[in-house]
Amino acid sequence: MNVSPPSTQAVNKDVPTGSKQDVVAYIVSQDLVKVSSLLPSNVKRSYVVHSLVQCLGLLQNTISDNEEHETPLHDGNPRSSSTRRRRIQVKAPVVATDADLLAYHDADFLAYILRGARTSPSSGRTENPGDASQFGLEDDCEPFYGLPAYVRMVAGASITAARCLSSGEAVTAICWDGGRHHARKSQASGFCYVADCVLAILHLRKAPRKPRIFYLDLDLHFGDAVSEAFLNSSQVLTLSVHHAAPGFFPANELAQLTEADTANPFTVSIPLQAGASAAIFKEIWPSIEAIREAFDPEFVVVQCGADGLAGDPCKVWNWSLFGEGSMSWCFDRIVNRWDCKTLLLGGGGYHSANAARAWATITSIALLEPILPERDIPDHAAFPLYGPSFTFDVPGGNMRDENSSEYVQRIKEQMFSLASRIANIRESE
Ligand SMILES: [Zn+2]
Repeated sequence: MNVSPPSTQAVNKDVPTGSKQDVVAYIVSQDLVKVSSLLPSNVKRSYVVHSLVQCLGLLQNTISDNEEHETPLHDGNPRSSSTRRRRIQVKAPVVATDADLLAYHDADFLAYILRGARTSPSSGRTENPGDASQFGLEDDCEPFYGLPAYVRMVAGASITAARCLSSGEAVTAICWDGGRHHARKSQASGFCYVADCVLAILHLRKAPRKPRIFYLDLDLHFGDAVSEAFLNSSQVLTLSVHHAAPGFFPANELAQLTEADTANPFTVSIPLQAGASAAIFKEIWPSIEAIREAFDPEFVVVQCGADGLAGDPCKVWNWSLFGEGSMSWCFDRIVNRWDCKTLLLGGGGYHSANAARAWATITSIALLEPILPERDIPDHAAFPLYGPSFTFDVPGGNMRDENSSEYVQRIKEQMFSLASRIANIRESE
């Protein structure tokens, strides 16, 4: 694969030059794909994702043949009913400096995780198991060859995406290699070695005008480290929709359904039971919208984990990629109806082809050139991974949906009450 930033210069002169509001920044480079593809939990996934996005022509500013045939996912919104594609700006990530990483991470943790000499390709093990344990570098977060470069590059990628938004270069920024929402200040956790979500939010938050930032986490797993990082901040509201059950990672008190009278109204949690489907997301979506509207953020940061999709090896939810209440339905609303600068980050997703289908589709939605489910996967090096359908569709699963109508009603009532409370807090500021 040859993904290179020079395509940013490949602006087709026939494409109208719109305002910055029309620009989608896409963070990728060959070095980023190389180090991200080493992540043990998602070997080669980065390569699979970016290869699909690239072979669809989404990284080029040309008018697609499909534009005349594929229509936006919904009607009635002037931003998304335009027939003109947004412009893409492909950007190589900066490599995060020590100062960039120290904006959140603990110095001892960084010193340890960035010392590549402690690992080798043959053993992949650290020399001091005690330190490894202290910093979480064991079990599902074993050190791996290339880890120091991975940490700097993935953090740098999400920071680069955040800078594109804060500078006004783009209205949407995409970093599919980011979204490591379990990494803490001084501890790796749950396949996450670097807290790029937190670092990106900290960058957005430091603007002098103190912008409000809405962090929405749609990964199957609770976004524990991000929720904890901003627990006492009224400038950052975190809302995680996830699965929670005894024994399901991560165990955390904050993963329970947030009560309207919670002590932390800016730390919101919506746990869904097993079998959650597009119908459940459609039901609860107005609750999420209500929280977002009450908070009235300038920036939205979304962790777009794809492990809730049907077909993922986690096998917990029945979520589909297309149709009402589906993943693409939600993201069409986020990037085309919410009037916010939006940062889209990756996350979980252990069926690499489905993660690629999802993130390529979301990229196409951000560009106002939405892919349809029946579209064939283009022929490219990773094509065999997409069988047997070889289309973009990820249909919903058929596991029993354990989200009762009573439980969904309770979610809605509590979220609407909480939204009123957040609105009241904001009005009194
Ligand atoms: Zn996950």
